Amino acid sequence: MTARILVVDDVEPNVRLLEAKLTLEYYEVLTAMDGQTALDVAAAERPDIILLDVMMPGMDGFETCRRLKADPVTRHIPVILVTALDGREDKIRGLEAGADDFITKPIDDVILFARVKSLVRLKAVMDELREREESGRRFGVDTDGAGRLRGSGGRVLVVDDSALQAGKIVDQLSDDHRPTHEPDPAAALIAARGPVDLMIVNVSASAFDGLRFVAQARSTEASRRVPILAVVDPADRPRLIKALELSVNDILPRPVDPEELNARARSQIKRKRYADFLKQKLDYSLEMAVTDALTGLHNRRYMAGQLQALMGRAGQGGDPVAALVLDIDHFKAVNDGFGHDAGDEVLREFAVRLATNVRAIDLPCRLGGEEFVVVMPGASLEDATRVADRIRRDVASLPFPIMGGTESLTITVSVGVACSTGPDDTPDALLKRADEGVYEAKSRGRNQVIARAA
Ligand code: GH3
Ligand code: MG
Ligand code: MG
Repeated sequence: MTARILVVDDVEPNVRLLEAKLTLEYYEVLTAMDGQTALDVAAAERPDIILLDVMMPGMDGFETCRRLKADPVTRHIPVILVTALDGREDKIRGLEAGADDFITKPIDDVILFARVKSLVRLKAVMDELREREESGRRFGVDTDGAGRLRGSGGRVLVVDDSALQAGKIVDQLSDDHRPTHEPDPAAALIAARGPVDLMIVNVSASAFDGLRFVAQARSTEASRRVPILAVVDPADRPRLIKALELSVNDILPRPVDPEELNARARSQIKRKRYADFLKQKLDYSLEMAVTDALTGLHNRRYMAGQLQALMGRAGQGGDPVAALVLDIDHFKAVNDGFGHDAGDEVLREFAVRLATNVRAIDLPCRLGGEEFVVVMPGASLEDATRVADRIRRDVASLPFPIMGGTESLTITVSVGVACSTGPDDTPDALLKRADEGVYEAKSRGRNQVIARAA
């Protein structure tokens, strides 16, 4: 997977060196030599990742990072801060400024590429979620709130065979989060399927294979999206590299530094919540796109798609498909006499009666207003007419409660029925025949079912 990387450093040879290394790995490289230029290039070019030097005259890396993260246009671009070798303070300040990762100078190529790769992968997922969220917004779904997501109160699972090390981690996280310790990897894998915001895994454990645990957690659907902080001895390079290859989200060097632990945990939890939030919005907006908000029935869009597909199959020798069009009688009188809210109560109750009187494979839908459609796969005109009459009787026989149950109204419905006739029939023609049935039912005095053969 290739990506565009913005390299920011005030020292020209540093920029050129990084540019050369990254270009050799087939990354596309943009460059900037000061904070303001970095902000401009980031906003105009939207790179996939920003490698940002901390030490720069004028606007330093922290401030640049803070501004990148404060701007909605660049907020989602992962920032890797390039810090001095023993820059412990730098790391903490960087995380506080919203940096996503660090790399220390002199830059270790293996770690650089591993982190770039893992962030590019993460960003690809986030971009897709954001894109789908955009389309959700077009259906009028509220998408605000992501900015308020916090990195505290996280459920953290510490997977470690060392009671001493785990105890320290749990202690250090207890102020801000809800950490639990699990020394047994099998039990931890089960716990990871529950609501967990972060796992901190000792990949140098002696009682179990921590790398294997990471691989297992990543290959299980239920735990795949839980971020993992790998606790590892920095001197054990092969293990560190392997952990990165297995897509752990971040590395915590041993011995664990309390400040760094807190800062890294917070940023992972925050990122997880952002992803969860988008996913939840996505599920919701997909649902909203096919659901009628007032009644919870399918909406017109969904009905049209399903009817099209079912009629296509019917036309090619598959089962027939029938449709009912239902229109509540004198509904305007409900609104006029009792108010719009009472009208809505009637519509909701009508939807319940509709849904409870059709078969499981039938699709009850609300077209809008007081007009409904039921699509009935495999039903003949006679089958559909029987169902229509059952609905009609169920509606008329029991008054509808309104005003929160303090009043009730007798409601009736007129129904038209039609069934597919062959390869030349279309969804529009079918619905038109059923509509004509409704019209006839109305003119004959309402509260009746009229079937229209072709
Ligand atoms: P008919 O028996 O001929 O069908 O008469 P009707 O009054 O049911 O039909 P008409 O189409 O004249 O009136 C439908 C009314 O439904 C008018 C409109 O204000 C109302 N309406 C449409 N959508 C909604 C809604 O979502 N909620 C409520 N409460 N009323 C709605
Ligand atoms: Mg009506
Ligand atoms: Mg009407």
